[in-house]
Amino acid sequence: MLQPPAAVRAITRTLEAAGHEAWCVGGAVRDALLGIATLDWDIATSARPEQVQQLFKRTIPVGIQFGTVGVLDRDGVLHEVTTFRHDVETDGRHAVVKFGASLDEDLARRDFTINAIAVHAETLALRDPFDGRADLERRIVRCVGDAQQRMQEDRLRALRALRFAGRFDFAVDPATWQAIKDSAPHLGRLSMERVKQELEKVMEQVARPSVTLERYREAGIFAALVPALADAPRARFLAIDHLPLGRHERRVLRLAALFVEPGVRPPRTLEKTLKDLKFSNVEARAAVSLAEAAGDHRWSEVTELRDADLRRAVAKVGRLMVPSLARVLWARAKAEGATAVQANAGRALYRRALRVAFRDPLSIGDLAIDGEDLQREGVAPGKAMGDVLKQLLEVVLADPTRNTREALLAVVRARRA
Ligand code: ATP
Ligand code: MG
Repeated sequence: MLQPPAAVRAITRTLEAAGHEAWCVGGAVRDALLGIATLDWDIATSARPEQVQQLFKRTIPVGIQFGTVGVLDRDGVLHEVTTFRHDVETDGRHAVVKFGASLDEDLARRDFTINAIAVHAETLALRDPFDGRADLERRIVRCVGDAQQRMQEDRLRALRALRFAGRFDFAVDPATWQAIKDSAPHLGRLSMERVKQELEKVMEQVARPSVTLERYREAGIFAALVPALADAPRARFLAIDHLPLGRHERRVLRLAALFVEPGVRPPRTLEKTLKDLKFSNVEARAAVSLAEAAGDHRWSEVTELRDADLRRAVAKVGRLMVPSLARVLWARAKAEGATAVQANAGRALYRRALRVAFRDPLSIGDLAIDGEDLQREGVAPGKAMGDVLKQLLEVVLADPTRNTREALLAVVRARRA
């Protein structure tokens, strides 16, 4: 498991044959030692970026100013090769890097001991000057060196520490935890894009985000960065644990659920809160719609809803909203300790809501009749027609079997008589 793939070994061999040092470092080494399969093996080398570029046929200058050259292997897979470096003159946001460092110096600039282990690709010799392996065994996230100083150098580390702790279900070393708390008031220096990326990674990588989110809160990170979440009920964070883990849609749903409070209308400021957090327009609108839909008190009483009321409720939020809404409300119910009876009632209800949503006519577009039909019946386009269509929709919501051309024309004619 610790052995890097052949393509990585071929790259380190080439570097060594040219007289340079080459080691595997960072996340892949950590994951391999934890027994987690990993794909991205980062290579660190004493060779300068231009030397790396000369040694390999196909390279891409992916982060050349930081010393990173992408080397393409025979299959076109990109491997990052980064020159040993020091970080100097940091202002908590930007690192200025200096080449000409040793492996140990390069490891010393890394954030946490578990991320500061190097392995030789062939001999599998480890270089572990900060006892990262011991921390992996003790299941602890601990800063390399002085925690206060390391957090001051780069404020993002506060968020990274909590993410790694959540992802591996590790504790946070006390000095590191203290430094995270002391960092919280300064996190406003971070760009919101990076904060959002961190939150996204938490939602995508951490099975039980509630632990991480409560740590954010306890450390004062929400108070500093997303005040809207500082006083969120605990159950709201717990609910996220019951939403599936994963990329894209799943991550987006988990993020949106952070702002959903069932039975309570979202504050008018929600959209601005989300924009400040760099949600895209599409994501922000979807999250606001979800929060508004869940905020409708009717959904708290849905177990008692008759079919017609259920159809009206689904028509109001839009059928495409129902699957997300059902998942989030259901997750919240579980977080609040729904009993088996409630659980069954809830499941039955959401199945009903989904059936209604994707079977029954719910909008004017679903009517078996259209504007042209109405014009032929002498209904003038404009407001009059809008009113008739709304009335027909109400008829159909009450009884979907009446959604036929004949039945609806009969309603129109009766109305005019
Ligand atoms: P992931 O699986 O999330 O990618 P990772 O450990 O590979 O985890 P990266 O963000 O890809 O994390 O960074 C690669 C390595 O670079 C880290 O393992 C760490 O050694 C170092 N590193 C990354 N960000 C920082 C930082 N802000 N401060 C210090 N070292 C860092
Ligand atoms: Mg990585």
